[in-house]
Amino acid sequence: MTLPVAVIGAGPYGLSTAAHLRARGIGTRVFGSPMVSWRENMPAGMILKSTPSASSIDAPQPGHTLLDFCRETGERRFESDWDTIPVETFSRYGLWFQERLVPELEQVRVVSVDRRAADFELKLDSGEQFTARAVVIASGLSGLAQLPPELAAAVPDGPSAVGPVSHSSQHRDLAPFAGREVVVVGAGQSALETAVLLADAGAASVRVVARRKGAVRFGAAPDGQSRLKPDTPFGRAWSLYAFSYHADGFRHLPAPARRFLVGRVLGPLGAWWLRDRFIGRVHVSEGTRIGSARVEQGRPVLDLIGPDGASAGELAADHVIAATGYRVDLAAMDFLGHGLRTRLAVGAGGPRLGPGYRASVPGLFFTGLPAAASYGPVMRFVCGTEYASPRLARAVAAGHARWCRTRLSPGSAPPGALWVVARRGGGLLLPGARRGVWACPVVPDPSEPGFGTAGCLVGGCAPWRRAFVARGKAWGRPCAPLRRASVPAACRRVSDPRRNGD
Ligand SMILES: Cc1cc2nc3c(=O)[nH]c(=O)nc-3n(C[C@H](O)[C@H](O)[C@H](O)COP(=O)(O)OP(=O)(O)OC[C@H]3O[C@@H](n4cnc5c(N)ncnc54)[C@H](O)[C@@H]3O)c2cc1C
Repeated sequence: MTLPVAVIGAGPYGLSTAAHLRARGIGTRVFGSPMVSWRENMPAGMILKSTPSASSIDAPQPGHTLLDFCRETGERRFESDWDTIPVETFSRYGLWFQERLVPELEQVRVVSVDRRAADFELKLDSGEQFTARAVVIASGLSGLAQLPPELAAAVPDGPSAVGPVSHSSQHRDLAPFAGREVVVVGAGQSALETAVLLADAGAASVRVVARRKGAVRFGAAPDGQSRLKPDTPFGRAWSLYAFSYHADGFRHLPAPARRFLVGRVLGPLGAWWLRDRFIGRVHVSEGTRIGSARVEQGRPVLDLIGPDGASAGELAADHVIAATGYRVDLAAMDFLGHGLRTRLAVGAGGPRLGPGYRASVPGLFFTGLPAAASYGPVMRFVCGTEYASPRLARAVAAGHARWCRTRLSPGSAPPGALWVVARRGGGLLLPGARRGVWACPVVPDPSEPGFGTAGCLVGGCAPWRRAFVARGKAWGRPCAPLRRASVPAACRRVSDPRRNGD
């Protein structure tokens, strides 16, 4: 049987999307390791740069914010913009969210996705193979860590936490760097915080190397922001307001502008609270780029180039950490089948997405970081789930409803189904159905008298929506159970409700 939707990814975006799809009653399987980027690819002791109000994973129903998690589990409450959130707390919050809203998560890897006729064929590393009508890719940062080519050339076997050169995502524990000289490449929050955590871990010396002069900067504290500008999850700014609340408009900008804005807006800048921990403990080489790198007797040596293009000398250390971020690269998403990848329209450094986060291949959706090229820089952050997940779920549901409408037939109702007629807006209805009255099968639930599970039809639409079926009402709407025999031939729109007992 073909599954309606498969979601690849169990980070904030995958979990949030799955929760929204589940709330719409659309049969969904979700794959991935929950919150793995936060649990394994960020250093212990890291503090989130985002404020508590910008650090909730969007859910379809209330009660699942970071603050709700703190209240319920007795964790310290993170409420004001002055509160800073440890990565460990945020990971626990994500796992709590998953257990409550996406309990059916399957912790397996999707090894391939490819087009098969109008559907998608997915293979799991468990060996299972199945087809899905829609696929949501929320694979986040996985596989997208970026290493400057000069550094990559020095380590032909690739970066490694125990070799001379690594990427910041390869470190969970920085304690092994006690007593060692470390160079951190980059000027973003990740680079500056890694440098501070290395100093905390007792590194003999820590130096940050940044390409641009003046690149090492820190943001303003919450009370240092202009009250005349609108508030956003990222602080007060007009541009951030547009990016946060009108992300759909971003798609219509020319590709070069989108590429520029994704790289620049909310770009490299240390958090306000990091400044005091950084200054005086970390050396800085600004305005110098790496011309080339080599490894001599196990130690990395960097040839630096100054702003004028002349040599700025050599820099040797025990280890170099490239905190140079992540870049969307469809080729690095190794699970995307070749056939699918070549059919995807791309632009501004990511898949080109239309309304509802739809890719150019029908039924394929991207969210999170790969969606930033179309929906803007907010998609790089957890708070972007608030904009993305409901819209993406709505678009999937509309496609699902279209599919169901073309396949409705009373013969495919399960044994024991009651037929009810529901109006659009009554809750119990075909998701996406046009205005009018529709026939819908409901399976009474023996474990909960008075309730049943309703769906647009079986044949792949399970799990169905919960429905109130007692006394012929569906979610409070007058709605008479029909005998199967009285269901309109093809379950199409019923023109006269009274004829059908409504
Ligand atoms: C150091 C650092 C600090 C950050 N700090 C902040 C912050 O303070 N605030 C903020 O808002 N954002 C922050 N971010 C950005 C944040 O990490 C992302 O916004 C967020 O994690 C993206 O969530 P996601 O669900 O898209 O991807 P991820 O969290 O990366 O999750 C990816 C998921 O995909 C799964 N997956 C991948 N490939 C497959 C496959 N083939 N099969 C099955 N599953 C697969 C993984 O198992 C995982 O579950 C930070 C990022 C970094 C690197």
